[in-house]
Amino acid sequence: MENGMDTLRRWVEESRRIVFFGGAGVSTESGIPDFRSEDGLYRQKYRYPPETMLSHDFFEENPEEFYRFYREKILIDEVEPNAAHRKLAEWERQGKLCAVVTQNIDGLHQKAGSRQVWELHGSIWRNYCTRCGKRYPLEFVKNCGTLVPRCSCGGIVRPDVVLYGEMLDQTVVTHAVEAIASADLLLVGGTSLVVYPAAGLLQAYHGSRLTLINRSPTPVDRRADLLLSGSIGELLSQI
Ligand code: NAD
Repeated sequence: MENGMDTLRRWVEESRRIVFFGGAGVSTESGIPDFRSEDGLYRQKYRYPPETMLSHDFFEENPEEFYRFYREKILIDEVEPNAAHRKLAEWERQGKLCAVVTQNIDGLHQKAGSRQVWELHGSIWRNYCTRCGKRYPLEFVKNCGTLVPRCSCGGIVRPDVVLYGEMLDQTVVTHAVEAIASADLLLVGGTSLVVYPAAGLLQAYHGSRLTLINRSPTPVDRRADLLLSGSIGELLSQI
């Protein structure tokens, strides 16, 4: 009898349009904490809940506190891709995978060599002035010497990440939905699938090879054609 990993191996072998949809759990094996695991950011104690500190209103009203939290917990750049990122990049090079759709903002898929990456929530690697729009690299925000980074025009520089209460970039969403709708195998991993509208994008998939890899249950488990429980880096490295 074929077990779950055998099925996934066969499906990957047969696929020509794999799309991967992932979240913070994809980067935990690189050392970046997610939000909802045991050691995730939601279990740590802060003056305000993380959703509040990462919200649009909080950034506007309290940029100092926002940047204190952002620099300490979100701006993580000295990390390396893990086996999951590397395997997905390898499948793209082999012409098997056509896109990665990620909720992550860490840039690790690109660092591993993936090219077609739709970043639903933006990236810590891009920053811009809220007044004049001038672009700044991550290093500027990290090393600017003041708590709140300021542009040469005096405006506040902010990360190009989608804060709670902000809209997703509609161009990115459109590309992500098109990729998901055209997938022959939709591989979903390392995400609790509770953050909307991102999680809703899975509805664009109408195929019969929806595969979920996660360490804990998700609301989409009963829709999955194949459900694998475990660490995504460990499992994908076995394929
Ligand atoms: P989440 O924290 O809500 O859920 C992570 C899920 O991944 C959990 O279900 C957990 O059991 C699972 N998981 C953790 N490590 C895993 C592993 N190695 N293998 C398999 N499963 C694993 O994360 P989310 O669903 O992405 O939603 C949180 C939001 O936070 C996202 O919108 C994302 O933008 C943001 N975020 C991003 C990063 C990052 O860029 N690395 C880190 C933290 C949070």
